[in-house]
Amino acid sequence: MRGCRVIVPLGKNKTYVGVVLRIHQECPQDVEVKEVIELLDTVPVVSNLQFKFWQWIASYYMCPLGDVFKAALPGGMKRPLKRNCKTVEDIYKGMLGDTGTELQYNGLSDAQKKAVCEITTSFETKDITLLHGVTSSGKTEIYIHLIHKYMTEGKQVLYLLPEIALTTQITERLQRVFGDEMGVYHSKFSDKVRFDVYQRQVSANPYKLILGVRSSVFLPFQNLGLVIVDEEHDGSYKQQEPAPRYHARNAAMMLAKMCGAKTLLGTATPSFESYHYAKKGRYGYVQLNQRYLGLQLPHITVVDIKDQRKRKVMNGAFSSVLVDAMHDALAKHQQIILFQNRRGYSSFIECRQCGWVPRCPHCDVSLTYHKKTKMLTCHYCGYATRPATKCPNCEETNFIDVGLGTEKVEDQIHSIFPAARTLRMDLDTAKTKNQYEQIIGAFSNHEADILVGTQMVTKGLDFSDVSVVGVLNADTMLNQPDFRSYERSFQTLSQVAGRAGRKYEAGKVVLQTKNADADIIKQIAQNDYWGMYYQQMMERRDFNYPPFRRLIYIYLRHRDNDLLEHMAIEMAEHLKGIFGDRVLGPDCPPVGRIQSLYIRKVMLKVEPTLSTEKVRKALIEEKRRIIAQPVCRNINIYYDVDPV
Ligand SMILES: [Zn+2]
Ligand SMILES: [Zn+2]
Repeated sequence: MRGCRVIVPLGKNKTYVGVVLRIHQECPQDVEVKEVIELLDTVPVVSNLQFKFWQWIASYYMCPLGDVFKAALPGGMKRPLKRNCKTVEDIYKGMLGDTGTELQYNGLSDAQKKAVCEITTSFETKDITLLHGVTSSGKTEIYIHLIHKYMTEGKQVLYLLPEIALTTQITERLQRVFGDEMGVYHSKFSDKVRFDVYQRQVSANPYKLILGVRSSVFLPFQNLGLVIVDEEHDGSYKQQEPAPRYHARNAAMMLAKMCGAKTLLGTATPSFESYHYAKKGRYGYVQLNQRYLGLQLPHITVVDIKDQRKRKVMNGAFSSVLVDAMHDALAKHQQIILFQNRRGYSSFIECRQCGWVPRCPHCDVSLTYHKKTKMLTCHYCGYATRPATKCPNCEETNFIDVGLGTEKVEDQIHSIFPAARTLRMDLDTAKTKNQYEQIIGAFSNHEADILVGTQMVTKGLDFSDVSVVGVLNADTMLNQPDFRSYERSFQTLSQVAGRAGRKYEAGKVVLQTKNADADIIKQIAQNDYWGMYYQQMMERRDFNYPPFRRLIYIYLRHRDNDLLEHMAIEMAEHLKGIFGDRVLGPDCPPVGRIQSLYIRKVMLKVEPTLSTEKVRKALIEEKRRIIAQPVCRNINIYYDVDPV
């Protein structure tokens, strides 16, 4: 019975699907006992090991076990569903076309062989190994070797990718090698497909390889031998909303530990946490410095926008250096990627006379102008409205647009290079997996010369014709008010630079900034990861940030700003009584109101040696204490453990 699903009555007329956790004879207090309506499974669909894993997630990330249950089981498992309709194999075949099972890798360099040997040796003494390989060093080939090795030994493998990087490109490549032994698990797939993958994992013939995004850590594994976390530094491994706010990389490492499996973390730009543990010897460390097939790293030219403005050689957001590089590339029928980390047309619009700026009525942000839809949109809650024809403040009819979004970049390209064909990839044009893949497909087939996009263009894509990459404004990323902003900028900008020069000798990257002399810009231009790491780690140590301390953010949300402020101060003071100066705040986050709820944040910085259990108990007790006050019943309090 334990681990089987049951239909249970809840309230007057509602029924729910639950999972049997424990069978006991203890009569619960204050709760009416009801009969189970139906038993849905004959064999357990949640194993003891999974329960243990769920409980670890609930405890570590401080959320109810029910939230983990909701995240862990695909929708189809949580309501009664007819089985044996269309099989998941049919769906893959329709999606991917014909596949073979031929092993495609052929021992493709010496550096890779050496890396595979080093990883295998490292696993003899370490459970976790960090593979630090420059972009295009052929990490996927190494993964394929290792997956094959573990599968031959009868072990299962989990291969995790960040959500956006899980494209048909990688799926097809692995499918060609592993054929029917591989299952794909993605939140954009239908419930039915996810249900089938889950069911097959508890059957007598489970997939030997699962390629999936963060939620695939919740799949059942019967004999897990290896977990690969590709692009381990990627922030999208952290679930933000709703709970459980787990970090899939860290959760996967815990899962591997529980299963006695090994973990391989792969990246070109390690997260500080992983690099720190590798340096300390807690993780194994394997480096891969050579680009695959002797490709050279791209050459990065830093362009000082301030200087270009002074000399009046800027054309809109384009420096003369970037324009020249683009002209050259277009003349040779090569392709270009332009990166601007802001979607929409302009950041906001402003009354020319009095400076009035339209803002979201529900959130504490200005509205972004989208030219294509002719709408002002809130990027936090989705509120949209038509721009006013005159200023409500002074009746002026002239507005100026401030800031640079991907739409405006596309407009400017059309005026500078009228013949160039462009594609844009951001949350507006690539809402669905299909749209996203259509854009990638079209650009791969050279149906466009220039691809403009947000962070989406930086991830896991291989375009063989791209010779120029332009970063229009590196400063928007660097100026984020976050202790990780330099680490993240380095990772993102290295990644986008790595898209250049795959087929051509050394691609060209033009990085535009107002801070050309800043150390971080020099470190990015010289691909000096170590220099950036060393300098940033000094600051992290001095200011007690990860990996020297663990961070827990406590968020409070309420409609009434005064009540919220009062309670947040009370909570912070009370916690300071327990944890002393480890408690900071309360602060108002940069966006202090979202969807009509005001927000406060209290920060807790704890030594990694401090008992997690003790901290957890104190925080949960504090939440109980606050909510017990009648006036605070509607305050929403939640925790973000190890925020990114
Ligand atoms: Zn005005
Ligand atoms: Zn809003």
